[in-house]
Amino acid sequence: MARHAPPRSACLRCAADLPALAEPAAPVAICGACRVRPGPLDACLAAVDYAWPWVDCIAQFKYRSQPGMAATLAGLMRAVPGVAGALRQADRVVPMPLAPQRLRERGFNQSHELARRLGAGPCDPLLLLRVRETPPQAGLNRAQRLVNVRGAFALEPEQAGSVRGQRLVLVDDVMTTGATLHAAADELRQAGASHITAVVFARAPAPDTVP
Ligand SMILES: [Zn+2]
Repeated sequence: MARHAPPRSACLRCAADLPALAEPAAPVAICGACRVRPGPLDACLAAVDYAWPWVDCIAQFKYRSQPGMAATLAGLMRAVPGVAGALRQADRVVPMPLAPQRLRERGFNQSHELARRLGAGPCDPLLLLRVRETPPQAGLNRAQRLVNVRGAFALEPEQAGSVRGQRLVLVDDVMTTGATLHAAADELRQAGASHITAVVFARAPAPDTVP
């Protein structure tokens, strides 16, 4: 499976493909969108493009309830340059939460299954809460998605105070425009997180954010 995941040339802050700007010697590669409008993430690392064969693979993992695939997918995430270091330095590894209703329907949180198999840093699935279910994001552009996910996340009140000054790794299975991850990261940032790295399995190109 690993042979299907060639190294990606991607923006260090949002993991968007950087085909035109790729320079092997360049120490820092930041896309135009992130230069103009930096988001709440300090870094974002993705294992694969959200494309064949990974779209099918993620659908099997998530919708056909095959959490056993998490170890393989997490292995590919761990192999991305920068991920091991981010995990080593993390005070907490935080999976993106599902709303309780969605969790009951699916039976597992795919991001938690990935996060706990990354194998380093304390995985904390109780810090970040999804307090509002949102309509499906498919078909919405980035601006619409940002409105759609506003207020969708909150921190567990008893734990919120412990986030100040912490380095966090935020884990998700798929990042599309980043609106959902950014909404979650905003909450963590407001609670005082000092550094947030998102580690995602697959990154989709977003037509309105690709430079
Ligand atoms: Zn970027």
